[in-house]
Amino acid sequence: MSNYRIETKCLHSGYKPGKGEPRQLPIYQSTTFKYDTTDEMGKLFDLEEEGYFYTRLQNPTNDAVAAKIADLEGGVGAILTSSGQAATFYSIFNICEAGDHVVCSSTVYGGTFNLLGVTMKKLGIESTFVDPDAPVEELNKAFRPNTKAVFAETIANPALVVLDIEKFAKIAHEHEVPLIVDNTFATPVNCRPFEWGADIVTHSTTKYMDGHAAQVGGVIVDSGNFDWAKYGDKYHGLTTPDESYHGIVYTERFGKLAYITKATSQLMRDLGSIPSPQNCFILNLGLESLPLRVERHCYNAQKVAEYLNAHEKVSHVNFAGLPGDKYHELAKKYMPKGTCGVISFELTGGREAAVRFMDSLKLATIATHVADAKTCVLHPASHTHRQMNDEELAAAGVSPGMIRFSVGIENAEDIIEDLEQALANA
Ligand SMILES: *Cc1c(COP(=O)(O)O)cnc(C)c1O
Repeated sequence: MSNYRIETKCLHSGYKPGKGEPRQLPIYQSTTFKYDTTDEMGKLFDLEEEGYFYTRLQNPTNDAVAAKIADLEGGVGAILTSSGQAATFYSIFNICEAGDHVVCSSTVYGGTFNLLGVTMKKLGIESTFVDPDAPVEELNKAFRPNTKAVFAETIANPALVVLDIEKFAKIAHEHEVPLIVDNTFATPVNCRPFEWGADIVTHSTTKYMDGHAAQVGGVIVDSGNFDWAKYGDKYHGLTTPDESYHGIVYTERFGKLAYITKATSQLMRDLGSIPSPQNCFILNLGLESLPLRVERHCYNAQKVAEYLNAHEKVSHVNFAGLPGDKYHELAKKYMPKGTCGVISFELTGGREAAVRFMDSLKLATIATHVADAKTCVLHPASHTHRQMNDEELAAAGVSPGMIRFSVGIENAEDIIEDLEQALANA
């Protein structure tokens, strides 16, 4: 890990070209790697030597980008996945099995809500969804003897709830489980959850990290701080021999890298979900300009939020950058440089006005996407969250008339002029 500041790390971490080598990260678009003797290859399988042999397990392009993101978050290691969904799944499945239980914030991304509430439940892993703003005594009640992890988002998509990370870390640790935080919206530029006690961080790199809507990807970063061995049998997948992998005990052999090594050598080996080296290259280009883009997203979102907040046809704006916002103080603590470019708001005319407004926009595109350089807009109740009933919508912090507006890095005046003409039609 370097001591450079985040802007410098975004450009230089993960890949250091030697003399005469390419200045830009090379794309190793190869499934396999060549060796000269049977013995050389055998040593790789026996873990006696390190080296690349198959891209599902390791690839030089992918590893360089993973190392960069680990450095940005201040972690000891990272693994890239083919989507944010895969990262969320692996981050939990790496330490949970049938019979286990997870405590999860109810305001998480719709895809995460389904993954935990439906698909992982089918695998025998149950989740209890909790209001992230609930008092500690109430949150404590969600824990069971078989609880293995707590999961939440730094800034919830699309509810924009800002997580009290220290509160959640403290509760998780009192119950002797790790806190896993999805840091997609804040990005490590605005918030580094490890500094506030989180143990594992995940991202959908599809969003700000890429920033250009060019690749779908995910990442898991390990702080190396959670002491799996201390809880012995509770995390037996990490603390007892893995018979499918040379009988290795991850905590003994890999120490602080136990969790992330198991994710690669067991989950990636068995489940796949690797990103292509080409996609990792694209992600890396996005990362190079991440701090500049995030700064501009936050600046533009502040202008847009202030404009909407003063508009007569808008009944409410959710954006932690507004002094009156419920999460303004938490945001100032955890994200003093700004939160993100995503805002949500409610029109006085309700659902119908929302549809008229959306259909009138010219610059902002209707897209199932957020956190992108180009301004985009979505109606969660009829798009991302349409499978939820009204009760679940309310728990997720989504009302039927809510519009999710992802402010891009265009000129803020152009975005506001587009809003103005569309609001006139709403
Ligand atoms: C989009 C998103 C995901 C899922 O990521 P994909 O790359 O679409 O699979 C997870 N968490 C958050 C906060 C997201 O915004």
